[in-house]
Amino acid sequence: MKAYDVVIIGGSAAGLTAAITARRQYPGKHILLIRKEKLVPIPCGIPYIFGTVGSPEKNLIPDTPLQNHKVDILVDEVTEIDRGNRALGIRSGNAVQFEKLILATGSFPMMPPIPGFDKENVFPVYKDVEHLTHMQRVMKDPSKIVVIGGGFIGVEVSDEINKLGTHGVTICELLPHCLQLAFDQEFCMEAEKLIRDRGVKILADQKVVSIEGNHRAKGVKLAGGILLDADMVIVGIGTAPNVELAKNANLRLGPTGSIWVDRTMRTSDEHIFACGDCAEKFSFFGGKPSQLKLASIATSEARIAGANLFGIQRESVGTIGVFSTAIGQRAFAVAGLTEDSAKKQGYEVITGVAEGVNRHPGTMPGVANQKVKLIFEKRTRVLIGTQMMGDYAVGELINVASACIQHKMTIDDIACFQMGTHPALTASPVVYQFVNAAEAALLGMA
Ligand SMILES: Cc1cc2nc3c(=O)[nH]c(=O)nc-3n(C[C@H](O)[C@H](O)[C@H](O)COP(=O)(O)OP(=O)(O)OC[C@H]3O[C@@H](n4cnc5c(N)ncnc54)[C@H](O)[C@@H]3O)c2cc1C
Repeated sequence: MKAYDVVIIGGSAAGLTAAITARRQYPGKHILLIRKEKLVPIPCGIPYIFGTVGSPEKNLIPDTPLQNHKVDILVDEVTEIDRGNRALGIRSGNAVQFEKLILATGSFPMMPPIPGFDKENVFPVYKDVEHLTHMQRVMKDPSKIVVIGGGFIGVEVSDEINKLGTHGVTICELLPHCLQLAFDQEFCMEAEKLIRDRGVKILADQKVVSIEGNHRAKGVKLAGGILLDADMVIVGIGTAPNVELAKNANLRLGPTGSIWVDRTMRTSDEHIFACGDCAEKFSFFGGKPSQLKLASIATSEARIAGANLFGIQRESVGTIGVFSTAIGQRAFAVAGLTEDSAKKQGYEVITGVAEGVNRHPGTMPGVANQKVKLIFEKRTRVLIGTQMMGDYAVGELINVASACIQHKMTIDDIACFQMGTHPALTASPVVYQFVNAAEAALLGMA
């Protein structure tokens, strides 16, 4: 039996980051990363293999960071955690012993309990190269594709397939708007207009009741009786944590069914840590259990777990939920709570919006409209949410907003925030939308 100081199960966003962090923090330790797949897709890049990037092979996490950090790699499946002997059962038969273990077993796509989801040509978006290659092969013929779920996965996949120009793509969304779990209505509506203008059909406020056809999907039936023709159905309705190994090892599960961890990412076994999509999360806002599963959260947790293996050094602040997406040349980004979700959670809020061009003067090349919405808790004057749309720069500007939220900056801090500006790169300092949205919100504070 091989023995390691540290073993990590999972080779995606969380596992990779945990391994590199463990190496940085503990240079003398023997570290092994075990993952099921030979080739690991970059999870967030998956939608882009259908259009912009072109194939699953062009969207892979390289092994070089692990090799450079002297982390051993075993491509195999862990079948059992024997906590008593601190050993792992491995599918190929050779058990591995560990002193400390990190579970980064991730998540898999959820399938609704609706008749017909087991038919050929119905595809959840698995993070698996073979599966994605098969999807791409099926998609080769010009066809009618129905995408169930208008969250960011459904929207990105639809937009990328639409770029091929040979398919009719329809999104079916249960809620009144696409992206509604991430953005307030006015941002969703802007995004939907762009999606429709680019040729994707959206049917919102529509419940899918069945997938029709014999062994192959032929159509998608909606609650109102409408039957949509479909040669291929793609499902993007959310993900469930992969907790099988942990459950079988009697590790405690949390309120959302993920692996229970404390703020240090330690599980109910002091020698075992968990991070990423498989680990239980709590919200930065009020501490309630959080269902958010994002690479930003997974990697932050992995940096905590990897550092804490042989002594606690870092703690989680909870999920903020910072995320961005692009539809054509326009980007949409969010950090923290939306106005709608903040109100539903009982916060009394004040919002401020600022909109304008992102260059000065507006005759500079690359000019685009930028809109920023800030959400403050009225009682404390603290920033609790930000939404933006604009050019691709908002994908980075939202990270500034996330830092402001994490450090509980107030409306006054942000109104006086010193933002770097340049005519060719940013909005004018006089109208800088991030700062002026705080000024706008201040008017409502009185
Ligand atoms: C299409 C798509 C687009 C996305 N886009 C974004 C985005 O733009 N931004 C963002 O922040 N997030 C995005 N996400 C979410 C993000 O991808 C996940 O939060 C992230 O992948 C979580 O990483 P993870 O390492 O925890 O889990 P996973 O990526 O699920 O990886 C789990 C790993 O564990 C391994 N494993 C599991 N069980 C075993 C076992 N028994 N033995 C050995 N190995 C095992 C798997 O093989 C895999 O390597 C997207 C997700 C999808 C599906």
